[in-house]
Amino acid sequence: SQDILQVIDLRVYYHTARGPVKAVDGVSFNLQAGSRLGLVGESGSGKSTMALALMRLIKPPGRIEGGQILLNGVDLARLSEEEMRHIRLSEISMIPQGAMNSLNPVVRIRQQIIDGMLAHGVQMTRREMDARVAQVLEWVDLEPDVANMYPHELSGGMKQRVCIAIAISLRPKVIIADEPTSALDVVIQRQVMETLTRVQEELGAAVILIGHDIGLMVQSVERLAVMYGGKIAEMGTIRELFQTPRHPYTRLLIQSLPRLGKKGQLQGIPGLAPSLLNAPTGCLFHPRCPEAMEICRQQTPALSREPSGRVVACHLYDASGMPVPAASQEGGN
Ligand code: SF4
Ligand code: MG
Repeated sequence: SQDILQVIDLRVYYHTARGPVKAVDGVSFNLQAGSRLGLVGESGSGKSTMALALMRLIKPPGRIEGGQILLNGVDLARLSEEEMRHIRLSEISMIPQGAMNSLNPVVRIRQQIIDGMLAHGVQMTRREMDARVAQVLEWVDLEPDVANMYPHELSGGMKQRVCIAIAISLRPKVIIADEPTSALDVVIQRQVMETLTRVQEELGAAVILIGHDIGLMVQSVERLAVMYGGKIAEMGTIRELFQTPRHPYTRLLIQSLPRLGKKGQLQGIPGLAPSLLNAPTGCLFHPRCPEAMEICRQQTPALSREPSGRVVACHLYDASGMPVPAASQEGGN
């Protein structure tokens, strides 16, 4: 099927008094229509900044420095704010991190869903909007009378379903979900993820699922991009990454997964996430990498691209993703 979204060399910097923080630094990926991609990484790896950039919601001192965000061929990075307002929610929408805590406590659910649609310039009659509210609540497995309730009358799982309902109210083609279940207990997490997947399939929308729990990701996405220090370290299908992880960081993540499908948190990797203000030279992962070589301290690894579309950024592999013989690795040329 076709790519609904192509992100090309996207760069997002936060400009601080002490210099630019390269929160997203040259990220490229394609998203096929109707597919599910996971973005996994530690906090500070650039995942949430990626999400905000795709929505064109980066606020100063952050800025999109370069690159393209092609949604159906239209570069969102170049659109005016007014054009973008009509595209958000109707073409690309986001369930922000912590969304369920930002529902307005004094506004009934029906009105919050309608307010979301109105804010993005829909032309619908009141009757059509009421019908849409009923429909989206049904899509996310909520009873119709939830429309009359206030957030405090709902459980965490129900509130998160409301957030999904708001995000899909205008039937977007791309849904970005930033840690959509992180505040929920494990059983509810799974139920909410199942609902999100079912809704996504019914809408034919693509999903970008952002998270730090690789165990939860595995069950919910088809492809996975592992982010480190604002860059993609490795990207491929779930099967590729789990059967033959290439990047040492991916390997550590998978090794850190407890067996028998329990939760896998990225905190299991020794060492600290890189400071992007005083970023290490060369490969950002080298201070923590068990396989770091001399060249890794000096040169940023280029992205290898395999014929299957799988990518890895590591000096252990050549431009086509083949392992580099050890003797030629130390040359550092
Ligand atoms: Fe490790 Fe070097 Fe590969 Fe970076 S480039 S992940 S330091 S082996
Ligand atoms: Mg985040």
